[in-house]
Amino acid sequence: MRRISIFGATGSIGVNTVDLLERQGGAKAFDVVALTGGRNIDRLAAQARALRADLAVTCYPDCYAALKEALAGSGIEVAAGPEALVAAADRPADWIMSAIVGVAGLQPGLRALEHGTTLALANKESLVTAGPLLLGQAARKGARVLPVDSEHSAVFQALVGEDIAAVEKITITASGGAFRDWPLERLATATVKQASTHPNWDMGQRITIDSASMFNKALEVIETKEYFGIDAQAIDVLVHPESLVHALVSFRDGAVMAHMGQPDMRHAIGYALNWPDRQDLPVPRLDLAQIGQLRFSAPDPARYPALRLACEVMRLGGLAGAAFNGAKERALDSFIAGEIGFLQMAEVVEAVLDRLSGESGLINVEINLDNVTEVDHLARRCATEMITAVRIKR
Ligand code: NDP
Ligand code: MG
Repeated sequence: MRRISIFGATGSIGVNTVDLLERQGGAKAFDVVALTGGRNIDRLAAQARALRADLAVTCYPDCYAALKEALAGSGIEVAAGPEALVAAADRPADWIMSAIVGVAGLQPGLRALEHGTTLALANKESLVTAGPLLLGQAARKGARVLPVDSEHSAVFQALVGEDIAAVEKITITASGGAFRDWPLERLATATVKQASTHPNWDMGQRITIDSASMFNKALEVIETKEYFGIDAQAIDVLVHPESLVHALVSFRDGAVMAHMGQPDMRHAIGYALNWPDRQDLPVPRLDLAQIGQLRFSAPDPARYPALRLACEVMRLGGLAGAAFNGAKERALDSFIAGEIGFLQMAEVVEAVLDRLSGESGLINVEINLDNVTEVDHLARRCATEMITAVRIKR
Protein backbone atom coordinates (compact mmCIF):
# COMPACT_ATOMS: atom_id res chain seq x y z
CA MET A 1 0.00 0.00 0.00
CA ARG A 2 1.13 3.51 -0.76
CA ARG A 3 2.40 5.32 2.36
CA ILE A 4 0.95 8.82 2.62
CA SER A 5 1.43 11.80 4.96
CA ILE A 6 -0.38 15.13 4.93
CA PHE A 7 1.22 18.26 6.34
CA GLY A 8 -1.49 20.81 7.05
CA ALA A 9 -4.23 18.15 7.02
CA THR A 10 -6.73 20.37 8.87
CA GLY A 11 -6.62 23.24 6.35
CA SER A 12 -8.54 23.77 3.15
CA ILE A 13 -6.12 21.77 0.95
CA GLY A 14 -5.66 19.17 3.69
CA VAL A 15 -9.40 18.54 4.06
CA ASN A 16 -9.78 18.15 0.29
CA THR A 17 -6.85 15.72 0.26
CA VAL A 18 -8.41 13.65 3.04
CA ASP A 19 -11.71 13.69 1.14
CA LEU A 20 -10.00 12.24 -1.96
CA LEU A 21 -8.14 9.60 0.04
CA GLU A 22 -11.43 8.52 1.60
CA ARG A 23 -13.16 8.35 -1.76
CA GLN A 24 -10.29 6.23 -3.11
CA GLY A 25 -10.59 3.65 -0.33
CA GLY A 26 -9.30 5.43 2.80
CA ALA A 27 -7.46 3.30 5.34
CA LYS A 28 -8.08 0.18 3.26
CA ALA A 29 -6.27 1.60 0.23
CA PHE A 30 -3.58 3.81 1.80
CA ASP A 31 -1.13 3.36 4.63
CA VAL A 32 -1.49 6.78 6.29
CA VAL A 33 1.71 7.58 8.16
CA ALA A 34 1.39 11.10 9.61
CA LEU A 35 -1.20 13.86 9.65
CA THR A 36 -0.29 17.29 10.95
CA GLY A 37 -2.31 20.33 11.94
CA GLY A 38 -2.29 23.35 14.20
CA ARG A 39 -5.11 24.45 16.50
CA ASN A 40 -7.93 22.49 14.93
CA ILE A 41 -7.46 19.51 17.23
CA ASP A 42 -10.94 18.00 16.85
CA ARG A 43 -10.57 17.85 13.10
CA LEU A 44 -7.04 16.45 13.25
CA ALA A 45 -8.12 13.72 15.69
CA ALA A 46 -11.16 12.82 13.58
CA GLN A 47 -9.03 12.62 10.41
CA ALA A 48 -6.39 10.50 12.15
CA ARG A 49 -9.02 8.08 13.44
CA ALA A 50 -10.85 7.86 10.09
CA LEU A 51 -7.64 7.19 8.13
CA ARG A 52 -6.02 5.13 10.91
CA ALA A 53 -2.88 7.23 10.82
CA ASP A 54 0.22 6.08 12.72
CA LEU A 55 0.95 9.58 14.00
CA ALA A 56 -0.84 12.91 14.55
CA VAL A 57 1.17 16.08 15.12
CA THR A 58 0.10 19.58 16.10
CA CYS A 59 2.66 22.32 15.49
CA TYR A 60 1.66 23.98 18.80
CA PRO A 61 3.13 22.48 21.99
CA ASP A 62 0.26 23.93 24.05
CA CYS A 63 -2.19 21.79 22.02
CA TYR A 64 -0.45 18.52 22.90
CA ALA A 65 -2.66 17.60 25.87
CA ALA A 66 -5.87 18.24 23.95
CA LEU A 67 -4.70 16.11 20.99
CA LYS A 68 -3.54 13.34 23.33
CA GLU A 69 -6.95 13.31 24.98
CA ALA A 70 -8.82 13.43 21.67
CA LEU A 71 -6.90 10.36 20.47
CA ALA A 72 -6.96 8.42 23.76
CA GLY A 73 -7.52 4.72 23.21
CA SER A 74 -6.95 4.94 19.45
CA GLY A 75 -3.36 3.66 19.49
CA ILE A 76 -2.38 6.66 17.35
CA GLU A 77 0.89 8.28 18.36
CA VAL A 78 0.74 11.97 19.29
CA ALA A 79 3.42 14.67 19.10
CA ALA A 80 3.60 18.46 19.18
CA GLY A 81 5.85 21.37 18.23
CA PRO A 82 7.81 22.45 15.15
CA GLU A 83 10.56 19.84 15.73
CA ALA A 84 7.97 17.07 15.94
CA LEU A 85 6.54 18.34 12.67
CA VAL A 86 9.89 18.08 10.92
CA ALA A 87 10.51 14.67 12.52
CA ALA A 88 7.19 13.49 11.06
CA ALA A 89 8.70 14.13 7.61
CA ASP A 90 11.43 11.61 8.51
CA ARG A 91 8.86 8.82 8.74
CA PRO A 92 9.17 6.76 5.56
CA ALA A 93 6.42 7.65 3.09
CA ASP A 94 5.90 7.43 -0.67
CA TRP A 95 3.81 10.59 -1.14
CA ILE A 96 3.54 13.65 1.03
CA MET A 97 1.11 16.54 0.69
CA SER A 98 2.76 19.82 1.65
CA ALA A 99 -0.23 22.00 2.63
CA ILE A 100 0.93 24.02 5.59
CA VAL A 101 0.32 27.73 5.02
CA GLY A 102 3.36 30.04 4.97
CA VAL A 103 7.11 29.53 5.12
CA ALA A 104 6.55 27.07 8.00
CA GLY A 105 5.90 24.52 5.26
CA LEU A 106 9.43 24.72 3.87
CA GLN A 107 11.37 22.63 6.37
CA PRO A 108 9.11 19.56 6.46
CA GLY A 109 9.07 19.56 2.65
CA LEU A 110 12.85 19.73 2.43
CA ARG A 111 13.13 16.90 4.92
CA ALA A 112 10.70 14.73 2.97
CA LEU A 113 12.72 15.27 -0.23
CA GLU A 114 15.88 14.30 1.63
CA HIS A 115 14.33 10.82 1.86
CA GLY A 116 13.40 10.78 -1.82
CA THR A 117 9.69 11.07 -1.09
CA THR A 118 7.36 12.47 -3.76
CA LEU A 119 6.24 15.90 -2.63
CA ALA A 120 2.82 17.17 -3.72
CA LEU A 121 3.40 20.88 -3.27
CA ALA A 122 0.54 23.20 -2.41
CA ASN A 123 2.82 25.30 -0.18
CA LYS A 124 3.91 27.84 -2.81
CA GLU A 125 5.91 29.72 -0.17
CA SER A 126 8.51 26.90 -0.33
CA LEU A 127 9.27 27.73 -3.96
CA VAL A 128 9.08 31.49 -3.50
CA THR A 129 11.48 31.56 -0.56
CA ALA A 130 13.80 28.73 -1.50
CA GLY A 131 13.05 27.40 -4.99
CA PRO A 132 16.62 26.45 -5.95
CA LEU A 133 17.17 24.79 -2.56
CA LEU A 134 13.98 22.73 -2.75
CA LEU A 135 14.33 21.69 -6.38
CA GLY A 136 18.08 21.12 -5.98
CA GLN A 137 17.37 18.79 -3.08
CA ALA A 138 14.74 16.95 -5.15
CA ALA A 139 17.17 16.56 -8.07
CA ARG A 140 19.97 15.28 -5.82
CA LYS A 141 17.73 12.71 -4.19
CA GLY A 142 15.83 11.76 -7.36
CA ALA A 143 12.58 12.87 -5.72
CA ARG A 144 9.55 14.30 -7.54
CA VAL A 145 7.92 17.61 -6.75
CA LEU A 146 4.38 17.68 -8.16
CA PRO A 147 2.64 21.06 -8.33
CA VAL A 148 -0.73 21.35 -6.58
CA ASP A 149 -1.40 25.05 -7.01
CA SER A 150 -4.15 24.97 -9.66
CA GLU A 151 -2.34 27.18 -12.20
CA HIS A 152 0.88 25.21 -11.90
CA SER A 153 -0.88 21.88 -12.08
CA ALA A 154 -2.56 23.24 -15.23
CA VAL A 155 0.79 24.20 -16.80
CA PHE A 156 2.31 20.88 -15.75
CA GLN A 157 -0.55 19.05 -17.49
CA ALA A 158 -0.27 21.22 -20.62
CA LEU A 159 3.43 20.34 -20.79
CA VAL A 160 3.01 16.56 -20.78
CA GLY A 161 5.05 15.27 -23.71
CA GLU A 162 6.34 18.76 -24.54
CA ASP A 163 9.80 20.25 -24.41
CA ILE A 164 10.04 23.32 -22.15
CA ALA A 165 12.49 24.77 -24.70
CA ALA A 166 9.56 25.08 -27.14
CA VAL A 167 7.60 27.27 -24.72
CA GLU A 168 7.36 30.96 -25.58
CA LYS A 169 5.14 32.09 -22.75
CA ILE A 170 3.27 30.81 -19.71
CA THR A 171 0.13 32.69 -18.71
CA ILE A 172 -1.52 32.14 -15.38
CA THR A 173 -4.98 33.49 -14.73
CA ALA A 174 -6.34 35.41 -11.76
CA SER A 175 -9.97 35.91 -10.83
CA GLY A 176 -9.17 39.46 -9.76
CA GLY A 177 -10.22 38.64 -6.21
CA ALA A 178 -12.92 40.04 -3.98
CA PHE A 179 -12.41 43.68 -5.05
CA ARG A 180 -12.02 43.29 -8.80
CA ASP A 181 -14.99 45.54 -9.51
CA TRP A 182 -14.54 48.01 -6.67
CA PRO A 183 -13.63 51.60 -7.53
CA LEU A 184 -9.95 52.16 -6.71
CA GLU A 185 -10.74 54.83 -4.07
CA ARG A 186 -12.80 52.33 -2.09
CA LEU A 187 -9.97 49.79 -1.69
CA ALA A 188 -8.46 51.69 1.23
CA THR A 189 -11.60 50.96 3.25
CA ALA A 190 -11.70 47.20 2.55
CA THR A 191 -12.22 45.17 5.72
CA VAL A 192 -10.77 41.78 6.68
CA LYS A 193 -14.21 40.21 6.35
CA GLN A 194 -14.70 41.58 2.84
CA ALA A 195 -11.22 40.48 1.78
CA SER A 196 -11.82 36.99 3.17
CA THR A 197 -14.55 36.13 0.64
CA HIS A 198 -13.41 34.82 -2.73
CA PRO A 199 -15.76 35.10 -5.72
CA ASN A 200 -14.92 31.62 -7.11
CA TRP A 201 -12.57 29.53 -4.94
CA ASP A 202 -13.19 28.19 -1.44
CA MET A 203 -9.79 28.43 0.30
CA GLY A 204 -8.09 29.21 3.62
CA GLN A 205 -8.40 32.78 4.90
CA ARG A 206 -4.81 33.84 4.24
CA ILE A 207 -4.71 32.83 0.57
CA THR A 208 -8.17 34.34 0.08
CA ILE A 209 -6.98 37.74 1.30
CA ASP A 210 -3.83 37.30 -0.79
CA SER A 211 -6.11 36.76 -3.80
CA ALA A 212 -7.91 40.05 -3.15
CA SER A 213 -4.58 41.91 -3.03
CA MET A 214 -3.00 39.77 -5.81
CA PHE A 215 -0.16 38.88 -3.49
CA ASN A 216 -1.23 35.32 -4.19
CA LYS A 217 -0.72 35.84 -7.94
CA ALA A 218 2.59 37.59 -7.22
CA LEU A 219 3.74 34.50 -5.30
CA GLU A 220 2.48 32.33 -8.15
CA VAL A 221 4.41 34.23 -10.81
CA ILE A 222 7.60 33.62 -8.82
CA GLU A 223 6.50 30.00 -8.27
CA THR A 224 6.12 29.63 -12.07
CA LYS A 225 9.61 30.97 -12.69
CA GLU A 226 11.11 28.66 -10.08
CA TYR A 227 9.20 25.50 -10.91
CA PHE A 228 9.33 25.63 -14.71
CA GLY A 229 12.68 27.42 -14.91
CA ILE A 230 11.57 29.99 -17.47
CA ASP A 231 12.46 33.69 -17.74
CA ALA A 232 10.43 36.23 -15.80
CA GLN A 233 9.68 38.02 -19.11
CA ALA A 234 8.01 34.88 -20.44
CA ILE A 235 5.42 34.81 -17.63
CA ASP A 236 2.16 36.66 -17.95
CA VAL A 237 -0.94 37.19 -15.79
CA LEU A 238 -4.47 37.58 -17.18
CA VAL A 239 -7.51 38.56 -15.18
CA HIS A 240 -10.21 36.01 -15.93
CA PRO A 241 -13.24 36.50 -13.71
CA GLU A 242 -14.80 33.06 -14.37
CA SER A 243 -11.72 31.11 -13.08
CA LEU A 244 -12.35 28.33 -15.60
CA VAL A 245 -9.13 28.62 -17.62
CA HIS A 246 -6.37 28.09 -15.07
CA ALA A 247 -3.31 28.59 -17.26
CA LEU A 248 -2.21 28.81 -20.89
CA VAL A 249 1.04 27.63 -22.41
CA SER A 250 2.09 29.33 -25.66
CA PHE A 251 4.53 27.43 -27.87
CA ARG A 252 7.00 28.75 -30.41
CA ASP A 253 4.83 27.54 -33.30
CA GLY A 254 1.96 29.78 -32.17
CA ALA A 255 -0.09 27.01 -30.57
CA VAL A 256 -1.63 27.74 -27.18
CA MET A 257 -2.65 24.96 -24.80
CA ALA A 258 -5.20 26.07 -22.22
CA HIS A 259 -6.14 24.03 -19.19
CA MET A 260 -9.76 24.36 -18.14
CA GLY A 261 -11.97 23.09 -15.36
CA GLN A 262 -14.31 24.22 -12.64
CA PRO A 263 -12.56 25.95 -9.72
CA ASP A 264 -12.28 22.96 -7.40
CA MET A 265 -8.90 22.16 -5.81
CA ARG A 266 -9.72 18.47 -5.77
CA HIS A 267 -8.78 18.38 -9.45
CA ALA A 268 -5.18 19.55 -8.90
CA ILE A 269 -4.83 17.54 -5.67
CA GLY A 270 -6.26 14.43 -7.35
CA TYR A 271 -3.98 14.84 -10.36
CA ALA A 272 -0.94 14.93 -8.05
CA LEU A 273 -2.28 12.00 -6.02
CA ASN A 274 -2.86 9.76 -9.03
CA TRP A 275 -0.06 11.03 -11.28
CA PRO A 276 0.99 9.83 -13.81
CA ASP A 277 -2.47 8.24 -14.15
CA ARG A 278 -5.86 9.87 -14.04
CA GLN A 279 -8.69 8.63 -11.84
CA ASP A 280 -12.36 9.59 -11.55
CA LEU A 281 -12.60 12.74 -9.49
CA PRO A 282 -15.70 14.20 -7.83
CA VAL A 283 -15.33 17.63 -9.45
CA PRO A 284 -18.19 19.40 -11.22
CA ARG A 285 -17.94 19.12 -15.00
CA LEU A 286 -17.55 22.05 -17.32
CA ASP A 287 -20.56 22.99 -19.49
CA LEU A 288 -19.25 25.65 -21.84
CA ALA A 289 -22.51 26.02 -23.75
CA GLN A 290 -24.21 26.94 -20.51
CA ILE A 291 -21.40 29.29 -19.47
CA GLY A 292 -21.46 30.97 -22.86
CA GLN A 293 -18.72 33.54 -22.41
CA LEU A 294 -15.25 33.77 -20.93
CA ARG A 295 -13.67 37.15 -20.19
CA PHE A 296 -9.99 38.07 -20.10
CA SER A 297 -8.19 41.36 -19.43
CA ALA A 298 -4.74 42.61 -18.48
CA PRO A 299 -4.34 43.33 -14.75
CA ASP A 300 -4.45 47.03 -13.81
CA PRO A 301 -1.02 47.89 -12.31
CA ALA A 302 -2.54 50.64 -10.14
CA ARG A 303 -4.96 48.18 -8.56
CA TYR A 304 -2.45 45.37 -8.08
CA PRO A 305 0.98 46.70 -7.00
CA ALA A 306 1.89 43.20 -5.76
CA LEU A 307 2.49 42.09 -9.36
CA ARG A 308 5.04 44.84 -9.90
CA LEU A 309 6.77 43.78 -6.69
CA ALA A 310 6.95 40.18 -7.96
CA CYS A 311 8.84 41.44 -11.04
CA GLU A 312 11.25 43.27 -8.76
CA VAL A 313 11.78 40.11 -6.68
CA MET A 314 12.56 38.07 -9.80
CA ARG A 315 14.93 40.76 -11.06
CA LEU A 316 16.79 40.79 -7.74
CA GLY A 317 16.93 37.00 -7.38
CA GLY A 318 18.84 35.42 -4.50
CA LEU A 319 16.90 35.61 -1.26
CA ALA A 320 14.61 38.43 -2.41
CA GLY A 321 11.76 35.90 -2.51
CA ALA A 322 12.33 35.05 1.16
CA ALA A 323 12.33 38.76 2.06
CA PHE A 324 9.21 39.39 -0.02
CA ASN A 325 7.32 36.47 1.49
CA GLY A 326 8.40 37.24 5.08
CA ALA A 327 7.32 40.87 4.75
CA LYS A 328 4.06 39.81 3.09
CA GLU A 329 3.26 37.30 5.85
CA ARG A 330 3.92 39.92 8.52
CA ALA A 331 1.87 42.58 6.71
CA LEU A 332 -0.98 40.10 6.28
CA ASP A 333 -0.93 39.25 10.04
CA SER A 334 -1.09 42.95 10.69
CA PHE A 335 -4.02 43.54 8.31
CA ILE A 336 -5.92 40.60 9.85
CA ALA A 337 -5.26 42.09 13.32
CA GLY A 338 -6.74 45.40 12.16
CA GLU A 339 -3.43 47.26 12.57
CA ILE A 340 -3.04 48.41 8.97
CA GLY A 341 -5.37 48.96 6.04
CA PHE A 342 -5.73 46.77 2.95
CA LEU A 343 -3.60 48.96 0.68
CA GLN A 344 -0.90 49.36 3.29
CA MET A 345 0.07 45.71 2.98
CA ALA A 346 1.72 46.44 -0.38
CA GLU A 347 3.24 49.67 0.94
CA VAL A 348 4.87 47.77 3.82
CA VAL A 349 6.19 45.00 1.57
CA GLU A 350 7.57 47.49 -0.95
CA ALA A 351 9.31 49.48 1.79
CA VAL A 352 10.89 46.29 3.17
CA LEU A 353 12.07 45.22 -0.28
CA ASP A 354 13.51 48.68 -0.92
CA ARG A 355 15.37 48.63 2.35
CA LEU A 356 16.66 45.06 2.11
CA SER A 357 17.57 45.08 -1.58
CA GLY A 358 20.58 47.19 -0.62
CA GLU A 359 21.78 44.53 1.84
CA SER A 360 24.66 42.41 0.61
CA GLY A 361 23.25 39.35 2.39
CA LEU A 362 20.19 39.26 0.14
CA ILE A 363 21.64 38.74 -3.32
CA ASN A 364 24.63 36.61 -4.38
CA VAL A 365 24.35 34.48 -1.30
CA GLU A 366 23.92 30.75 -1.04
CA ILE A 367 20.29 29.72 -0.67
CA ASN A 368 20.33 27.36 2.29
CA LEU A 369 17.83 26.90 5.10
CA ASP A 370 19.78 29.03 7.58
CA ASN A 371 20.03 31.96 5.16
CA VAL A 372 16.39 31.71 4.16
CA THR A 373 15.34 31.67 7.83
CA GLU A 374 17.59 34.60 8.64
CA VAL A 375 16.23 36.73 5.79
CA ASP A 376 12.66 35.71 6.63
CA HIS A 377 13.17 36.91 10.23
CA LEU A 378 14.93 40.07 9.10
CA ALA A 379 12.09 40.93 6.69
CA ARG A 380 9.50 40.35 9.43
CA ARG A 381 11.39 42.62 11.85
CA CYS A 382 11.76 45.26 9.18
CA ALA A 383 8.05 44.97 8.31
CA THR A 384 7.16 45.38 11.98
CA GLU A 385 9.08 48.69 12.02
CA MET A 386 7.29 49.87 8.89
CA ILE A 387 3.94 48.82 10.34
CA THR A 388 4.62 50.84 13.48
CA ALA A 389 5.42 53.86 11.29
CA VAL A 390 2.23 53.33 9.25
CA ARG A 391 0.13 53.05 12.43
CA ILE A 392 1.53 56.30 13.77
CA LYS A 393 0.61 57.99 10.47
CA ARG A 394 -2.95 56.55 10.54
P1 NDP B 1 -5.31 26.84 5.64
O1 NDP B 1 -5.09 28.06 6.42
O2 NDP B 1 -6.71 26.43 5.33
O3 NDP B 1 -4.59 25.60 6.35
C1 NDP B 1 -3.26 25.67 6.77
C2 NDP B 1 -2.82 24.40 7.46
O4 NDP B 1 -1.53 24.63 8.06
C3 NDP B 1 -3.72 24.00 8.61
O5 NDP B 1 -3.62 22.60 8.77
C4 NDP B 1 -3.10 24.72 9.80
O6 NDP B 1 -3.48 24.14 11.05
C5 NDP B 1 -1.62 24.52 9.50
N1 NDP B 1 -0.74 25.55 10.02
C6 NDP B 1 -0.98 26.87 10.16
N2 NDP B 1 0.11 27.51 10.63
C7 NDP B 1 1.06 26.55 10.80
C8 NDP B 1 2.41 26.58 11.28
N3 NDP B 1 3.00 27.72 11.67
N4 NDP B 1 3.11 25.42 11.33
C9 NDP B 1 2.52 24.26 10.95
N5 NDP B 1 1.24 24.16 10.50
C10 NDP B 1 0.52 25.31 10.42
O7 NDP B 1 -4.48 26.99 4.29
P2 NDP B 1 -4.81 26.46 2.84
O8 NDP B 1 -5.16 25.02 2.87
O9 NDP B 1 -5.71 27.42 2.16
O10 NDP B 1 -3.39 26.63 2.11
C11 NDP B 1 -2.30 25.78 2.39
C12 NDP B 1 -1.20 26.04 1.39
O11 NDP B 1 -1.67 25.70 0.09
C13 NDP B 1 -0.78 27.51 1.29
O12 NDP B 1 0.58 27.56 0.99
C14 NDP B 1 -1.59 28.04 0.12
O13 NDP B 1 -0.97 29.14 -0.50
C15 NDP B 1 -1.60 26.82 -0.79
N6 NDP B 1 -2.73 26.77 -1.70
C16 NDP B 1 -3.99 26.71 -1.22
C17 NDP B 1 -5.07 26.67 -2.07
C18 NDP B 1 -6.47 26.51 -1.54
O14 NDP B 1 -7.39 26.27 -2.33
N7 NDP B 1 -6.72 26.61 -0.26
C19 NDP B 1 -4.89 26.72 -3.53
C20 NDP B 1 -3.51 26.73 -3.94
C21 NDP B 1 -2.47 26.77 -3.05
P3 NDP B 1 -4.83 24.57 11.88
O15 NDP B 1 -5.82 25.05 10.85
O16 NDP B 1 -5.23 23.28 12.54
O17 NDP B 1 -4.44 25.62 12.85
MG1 MG C 1 -3.32 29.19 -7.40
